[in-house]
Amino acid sequence: MTRRKTPEYGFETRMVHAGAQPEPVTGARQTPIFQNTSYVFHDADDAASLFNLQSFGFIYSRLSNPTVAVLEERLASLEGGRGTTCCASGHSAQLLVFFALMEPGDRFVASNRLYGGSVTQFGKTFRKFDWHCDFVDFDDPQAIRAAIGPKTRAIFCEALANPGGVVTDLEAVAEVAREAGLPLIVDNTMATPFLCRPIEWGADIVLHSTTKFLSGNGTSMGGAMIDSGLFDWSAVAGRFPGLASAEPAYHGLNFHESFGDMALTVHGHAIGLRDLGPTMAPMNAFQTILGIESLAMRMRRHCENAMAVAEFLDGHERVAWVRYAGLPSSPYHTRGRKYLENGFGSVFTFGVKGGYEAGLKVVEGCELFSHLANIGDARSLILHPASTTHRQLTPEQRETAGAGDDVIRLSVGVETPEDLIRDLDGALVRGAA
Ligand SMILES: *Cc1c(COP(=O)(O)O)cnc(C)c1O
Repeated sequence: MTRRKTPEYGFETRMVHAGAQPEPVTGARQTPIFQNTSYVFHDADDAASLFNLQSFGFIYSRLSNPTVAVLEERLASLEGGRGTTCCASGHSAQLLVFFALMEPGDRFVASNRLYGGSVTQFGKTFRKFDWHCDFVDFDDPQAIRAAIGPKTRAIFCEALANPGGVVTDLEAVAEVAREAGLPLIVDNTMATPFLCRPIEWGADIVLHSTTKFLSGNGTSMGGAMIDSGLFDWSAVAGRFPGLASAEPAYHGLNFHESFGDMALTVHGHAIGLRDLGPTMAPMNAFQTILGIESLAMRMRRHCENAMAVAEFLDGHERVAWVRYAGLPSSPYHTRGRKYLENGFGSVFTFGVKGGYEAGLKVVEGCELFSHLANIGDARSLILHPASTTHRQLTPEQRETAGAGDDVIRLSVGVETPEDLIRDLDGALVRGAA
């Protein structure tokens, strides 16, 4: 299903050009870093009109900034969305989207296979706002339907789930969301728009941790909320008061009535960033813009290397199993071929024979793979989720999330694949001794 016409330019062209033009005063070709907090008004009328949201422009960098705005347009273009709100981190993107959609007492249904930090944010911290998350198995559309109640306001999943190599059946999940009149929010961090564009499969909102593959070299935290502009916030009266009722924090403005398909994007800036404050730094937007210029080339290489490493591990005597959607043995291989366009991603897990202790030894025995908690870096990374990122979860939650005791997670970088294989082989063999 294609819900939006293919834009005029190809992906790689938009990756380099979308949202940017030479800076009009100096002619600077690359997007400058506007490292400043505030912008001079033309006159008092201009100021009033900006503050009333009657015209758009720059007021104060907590709300918007010219460097960040280029990144916002670029991401909207790459995902096929209408508008983007960039913010300080992937987690703050999740905060912004639910802040727009939820009232105290409201709920949302999320996949039980999510990034560990999201499980904690949704299951524990969001409760302080009286927001509640029902986690279910998204491989079972009936389970999603069954979890939807009168207070449910959204459906949330990852396109390619971290870290279990799980590919979500986006069309099936979007169908459930449509039947229920709820927006589908998809975290597309692991796939990036080069591998998957969830809006084309029925998602309404796409989120990113730009910290990962989009910036691509482990320098800059960032997040993004990209709205398709296709969801009708006014369809059921009173369901989404933040977007489609009089907003008391903006002298009674109704965002959907006033801004149409830009309602969520304007809300993200004018309420979300204004009142919660998780703004993306201009320097980080700049680094992310540079990263995106090479996204397609990097992702191709990431995926090729990941495939080579996965095949090597799959045949290794010290490895119990490999979970990578690129391997034909993966239960998600067929789905991956449908939803992932240019490869199966670079993050996957494998199990070392010998469990927790053996897993830790392999992680510590690598020289080229860095032992750290990140993914999507040009460098190869290795992690033992049970003792780190998924430590806060219960053993049952860890198993469900694909982060049991023997599990090792790799984020395969863009180095020479033979070097990566030699490094892992050495660590596996030494770990056995
Ligand atoms: C890292 C990550 C997040 C959180 O993003 P931050 O930028 O670290 O806040 C959310 N979802 C996924 C899939 C991630 O990998």
